[in-house]
Amino acid sequence: MPTVKIAIIGAGPAGLTLARILQQNSITCIVYEAESSRNNRNQGGTLDLHPDAGQLALKEAGLLPIFHKHARPEGEASKIVKYDGSVLWDDNVMEPWRSAEEGEQQRPEIDRVVLRDILIDSLEEGTLKWGKKVLGVVENEKTKGKFNVSFADGTMEQDIDLLVGADGAWSKVRPLLTSEKPFYSGITMIEFWALDAEKKSPWVSQYVGQGSMFMFDEGRAIICQRQGTGAIRTYACVRKPESWAKECGIDWTGADARERLVAQYFNDCGEDLKRLILESQDGLILRHIWMLPVGVKWDKDACPGVTLLGDAAHLMTPFAGVGVNVAMGDALELANAIIARKESKTAKFVSDKNNIARAIEQYEKSMFERGERAATKTMHGLKGHFSATGSEERASRIQKGYNMIMAQKAEKK
Ligand SMILES: Cc1cc2nc3c(=O)[nH]c(=O)nc-3n(C[C@H](O)[C@H](O)[C@H](O)COP(=O)(O)OP(=O)(O)OC[C@H]3O[C@@H](n4cnc5c(N)ncnc54)[C@H](O)[C@@H]3O)c2cc1C
Repeated sequence: MPTVKIAIIGAGPAGLTLARILQQNSITCIVYEAESSRNNRNQGGTLDLHPDAGQLALKEAGLLPIFHKHARPEGEASKIVKYDGSVLWDDNVMEPWRSAEEGEQQRPEIDRVVLRDILIDSLEEGTLKWGKKVLGVVENEKTKGKFNVSFADGTMEQDIDLLVGADGAWSKVRPLLTSEKPFYSGITMIEFWALDAEKKSPWVSQYVGQGSMFMFDEGRAIICQRQGTGAIRTYACVRKPESWAKECGIDWTGADARERLVAQYFNDCGEDLKRLILESQDGLILRHIWMLPVGVKWDKDACPGVTLLGDAAHLMTPFAGVGVNVAMGDALELANAIIARKESKTAKFVSDKNNIARAIEQYEKSMFERGERAATKTMHGLKGHFSATGSEERASRIQKGYNMIMAQKAEKK
C-alpha cells in the first residue's frame, strides 16, 4: 500500500512543529506557505513557551537545546503599573526569585522570528514550499476521500490523503469542517516600535526593563515587551467598535497620531505611560483582534481526512498569552496520533482511510478540550486586561506566586 500523502497548509509554529515531528519519525509531508520567503514579513513579537506545551513539543522535535540557546529567561520579568503611573510590581528591581536551577523559571521568552527560523532550518530540504497561497480546497471528484488544493500561482496539488489546515485565523481549510468564522473581539491594538531602544530610546528601554510591562484599566491597556533584538514593542489597546480606528478622527499615518491617541484616550494616565507611546517612534501598526467562539467543534464525519491545528482551529485573543502554546500542543498531539498508527513491520504510515480517521479522531478529542480550556482562560484574560482593577489583580496574583515560592524555599532550607 502507498504511504499517506500529507499536506500541511501554513508554516506558522503549528504547521512547522507538526512537519518536524513527523519527519523525525520518518513520515513524509509537505508544508505549503503563502509567504514568498522567510523574510517576507515582520513576524512580530516575542512568545513565552510553556513547559507542558510549546517546550514539550520542541522536546519531541529534538529542538529543546537550540531553543534554550536562544531563549531569554530574563524575559519573564514583569512590571505592573496602574493607570496613574504607580508601580504595583517590578521584577526588575528584585532579586531573581524564579530560579532556573530549581525549575521554577519555566516560561522563557523567544522572538517569534527566531522560533520560526529554528523550525524551518530543522526541516529536510524541499519540505517547505514558499509562495503557495491556498485559494481553495475541494474533494477529488474521481477519488472520494482525497483532496485537491489550488494555489494563487495557478498550480494545484492533487490526491491528498490527509489535509491539515495550519493556516491561521483566516484558514482556507476551516470551511470544509465548520461554518464558524472569526468575529471582532471588541479590542483594537495599536502597535508601536522603538528599535535599538537602549541606544535610541534609553528611557523607554530602562522603564520597560528586561521583560514585559503591563497597565490594565477599564476599556484600555498598555502592554510593552522587550524583544531579543533590543527593540521594545508597545501596544496601546482600546475596547472600541470595529469601525473606531477609521472613525475616531486620528490619521494613523500622520506625524501627530501618537499625540492625538494619547490626548484622546490616555490623557489622565501617568506621565511615564504616556511617554512610552510618544517615544516609540519606529513603527505603527493597527491590529483588530479577532476570535472564534469559545469551544468550536465539528463532527468527526464532517470531512474525513481533514483537520485543523492552532489558530485555524481555535483562534483566540492574545490576552492569556497561550495561543502559540496551544498551537504547538496541537501539533504534538496530531503527530503522536499519526505516529501511533505507523505499520509495525514497515514503520510507514500507509494510506488507509481507517488509520487516518482514527488518528484524526484521537487528536481532535484532546484538541477540542485543550482549545476550549485555553479560550475560556483567554476570555477571563480579556475581561481582566480591560477592567478598572486589572493591574491590581495581576499584581496580587504575582505576589501570591512569589509568596508561595518563598515559602517553599524557606521550607527547603
Ligand atoms: C498581536 C498578537 C500578539 C500575540 N501574542 C502572543 C503571545 O504573547 N503568546 C502566545 O502564546 N500567543 C500570542 N499570540 C497568538 C499566536 O500568535 C498564535 O496563536 C500562533 O501564532 C498560532 O500559530 P499557528 O501556526 O496556528 O498560526 P499562524 O502563526 O497564524 O501561522 C499561520 C501560517 O499560515 C500561513 N497562511 C495563512 N493563510 C494561508 C493560505 N491561504 N495559504 C498558505 N498559507 C497560509 C501564514 O502566512 C502563516 O505563516 C498573539 C497574537 C497576536 C495577534
